[in-house]
Amino acid sequence: MSTTPLFIQMHPADNVAIVVNDGGLPAGATFANGLTLTQAVPQGHKVALVGLPQGSAVRRYNVTIGTTLKDLAAGSWVNELVLQMPPARSLDALPLATRAAPSLAALDGYTFEGYRNADGSVGTRNILAITTTVQCVSGVVEFAVKRIKAELLPQYPNVDDVVGLEHSYGCGVAIDAPDAIIPIRTLRNISLNPNFGGELMVVSLGCEKLQPERLLPPGSFALQNIAAKAINTGATARFDSNFGENPGAHARDEQLDVVCLQSDHHVGFMSMIDSIMQSAEKHLARLNARQRETVPASALVVGVQCGGSDAFSGVTANPAVGFCTDLLVRAGATVMFSEVTEVRDGIDQLTARASTPEVAQAMIREMAWYDAYLAKGSADRSANTTPGNKKGGLSNIVEKAMGSIVKSGSAAISGVLSPGESLKQNGISNGLVYAATPASDFICGTLQLAAGMNLHVFTTGRGTPYGLAECPVIKVATRSDLARRWHDLMDVNAGRIAEGSASIEDVGWELFHLLLEVASGRKKTWAEHWQLHNALVLFNPAPIT
Ligand code: CA
Repeated sequence: MSTTPLFIQMHPADNVAIVVNDGGLPAGATFANGLTLTQAVPQGHKVALVGLPQGSAVRRYNVTIGTTLKDLAAGSWVNELVLQMPPARSLDALPLATRAAPSLAALDGYTFEGYRNADGSVGTRNILAITTTVQCVSGVVEFAVKRIKAELLPQYPNVDDVVGLEHSYGCGVAIDAPDAIIPIRTLRNISLNPNFGGELMVVSLGCEKLQPERLLPPGSFALQNIAAKAINTGATARFDSNFGENPGAHARDEQLDVVCLQSDHHVGFMSMIDSIMQSAEKHLARLNARQRETVPASALVVGVQCGGSDAFSGVTANPAVGFCTDLLVRAGATVMFSEVTEVRDGIDQLTARASTPEVAQAMIREMAWYDAYLAKGSADRSANTTPGNKKGGLSNIVEKAMGSIVKSGSAAISGVLSPGESLKQNGISNGLVYAATPASDFICGTLQLAAGMNLHVFTTGRGTPYGLAECPVIKVATRSDLARRWHDLMDVNAGRIAEGSASIEDVGWELFHLLLEVASGRKKTWAEHWQLHNALVLFNPAPIT
């Protein structure tokens, strides 16, 4: 990298810029425009481009990210200690669907090799998932999964993996509390994720609050299962028009496959393990009969997220992801962006970008719900930003949000999901969607899986080895320094954008092509290579008893 002092100014109206150079710059360093640093400034941190008297609005991304708490000379370091954060934007009087949608030309002809499901969704992996109703069974399921992988999986070479959907819910929860719907529908919808091929298999304890029929009531899965069987036997799927009113007609098909550990017929631990393995074998055989087929890129359901962000997130990786988001939307795919606290300060931009006033209102509804959720815990959106974010140059959540939102590209926002809801139940099959979730990496990933994500794009500046067993995670580094040090963990280096050796468009296209390769199973992500799998973490805003 060049040793010439470099900064990046995001917008001509900005009065701060960030230092590009690895390791930061010392006092006295002079930029090409003649600006000299009055003090050392770390990499990614802001420098005042002009004198900023106390009380000045500090602008980055052409947005006020704070006001100065003291007089700052040109060339000063601008960090969280000298900035007063602005109050959150009111949810009243926001612009509703006021921005004309940009005309994004259709992008035709791109395909990948995926596993078609009977419900129209497409898997990028062919995985046997074992749903659990309660944490109590996790140890048993883990034991069984190890044996299934060692003894059964080698006989079914078309099946990629076996995953126990373990979680901490199910026992000791206020299951009738209104907000309990969030963890319950999250677990239900994850079980129906496209990467699991419609093969539902449940392990239950027996006495738990979350009974199998509450987790997966007949109407929630039967259609998918019946259709999957029809496809697997080569028959044509046929749905009776009175299916919903006459579920008895399909009683056999609707039988949920449950292994209940407390069932009287289990004598000894091995009896439970044998039952789980016998059940797994049936599902493995059906999954193994599936083949990848060429499908249009429109079958991709991509969840985008950032974690361990720094000041480069909004300069390199997130803009490249935003460019890729536009390519995906143009190709007819679905892209979800999330992380409520990381978009809250840009809510006016987002409601303006909504495709209809109803979509804008749905976004406001999600923000208001989350404001109230945080207030109940005596917190607000400023609880976001970590010590690592600040070390990386992000002074507060306003600055972080501006860099986070650019992942969503420029398309109109055409749908909104509440936490744990699926795209399918909302009738959404394409476009840019706001899926409301906490910003916590694992919780956001878990909720995007529930929404129906079949590929995950994750940007990071500080670095995280994040991965999911249920879906490939493509990680994009914001800085070349991170990409070099973590060369066997990061899939894409967007740091080249800051160095000037690649454009946002170059990296956006590279990511787009990589997504198709990974979706097709031709390439593995580094997280898949090392089998790095973070736990599913449910969002449970409801009481525990
Ligand atoms: Ca996150």
